[in-house]
Amino acid sequence: MRVKCVLCDRIDELDDLKPLAKKLRNRPLHTYMCETCEKRIKQKTVERIGENSSN
Ligand SMILES: [Zn+2]
Repeated sequence: MRVKCVLCDRIDELDDLKPLAKKLRNRPLHTYMCETCEKRIKQKTVERIGENSSN
């Protein structure tokens, strides 16, 4: 199935057999994020947690 990243509008082809594809099909409101954006968000979150714990 084709999915569009909510952050950068990149279209990705997702293997229908992947658990993520099933999840997106069952829950249309569940937004898809491409690997690049996901990594970026995760990194940001980690950085923020790091900042908080140091304060
Ligand atoms: Zn993206």
